[in-house]
Amino acid sequence: MQSSNARQLSGKTALVTGSTSGIGLGIARALAGQGANIVFNGFGDAQQIEKLYTDTGSEFGVQTAYHNADMSKPDEIAAMMDYAASKFGGVDILVNNAGIQHVAAVEDFPPERWDAIIAINLSSAFHTTRLALPGMKQKNWGRIINLASVHGLVGSAQKSAYVAAKHGLVGFTKVTALETAQTGITCNAICPGWVLTPLVQKQVDDRAAREGLDNDAARKALLAEKQPSGEFVTPDELGALAVFFCSPAADQVRGVAWNMDGGWAAQ
Ligand code: NAD
Repeated sequence: MQSSNARQLSGKTALVTGSTSGIGLGIARALAGQGANIVFNGFGDAQQIEKLYTDTGSEFGVQTAYHNADMSKPDEIAAMMDYAASKFGGVDILVNNAGIQHVAAVEDFPPERWDAIIAINLSSAFHTTRLALPGMKQKNWGRIINLASVHGLVGSAQKSAYVAAKHGLVGFTKVTALETAQTGITCNAICPGWVLTPLVQKQVDDRAAREGLDNDAARKALLAEKQPSGEFVTPDELGALAVFFCSPAADQVRGVAWNMDGGWAAQ
């Protein structure tokens, strides 16, 4: 472990929604590696979550905490932001990452799944951002990182709610960046291609069952269809991009939707 003074985010607090798994966890660990205190959020087994945040704290020598707010519920989001303020004096780095997926054609798409995806993948970022901005403005420093997707840039059949939410999140990123353009607060979106997390493994499993493939063949087929590199993006790589957005070198990176997608959107 580096001494805490050498780390660029020492003394900052990062709140990462949906950080009990996958990309959010990778980003939380990368920010902790740079010395940031972390407020974790997300679902899962209570004991495993407690172990996750205490282990992350001791591994990186930072303070960690956890709030179980459901990102589809504005009052729970407000309680989480209050908790972060009381625990660490506010949120300096906000990573809006929590997200869910549902795959179905428009005419078969369950309306309650549409509402849940819009609430969790899009509206939650509005609520956390509106509540984080006053504290960031007081300090004249802040970083807001929205986990959109390559589906914030292009569409795919069967993913209407997800694509709509992610395009919306890219739009919200631009507006937030413009409203903060003359401050020390930046807002940017990260747009990953396929990352092998539980959210994507479910799509691999569905494909394996549908096409009679084994797990490896289903993963390869998924990649071959969309991602020219044929390789998954990793949570560690996305964590490194989030660390860059938090660095002084990124002070003038504002309102971008930065894809890390193995070439998906270049096609
Ligand atoms: P994941 O399923 O591994 O993790 C999702 C996290 O969100 C978990 O911690 C889960 O508990 C949490 N979560 C879900 N619903 C929640 C709710 N209502 N309230 C609070 N937390 C909730 O998924 P992931 O692949 O790591 O996805 C993270 C983000 O990255 C999502 O926004 C997703 O859309 C986006 N993304 C993923 C991929 C990919 O290929 N995996 C690609 C592009 C974008």
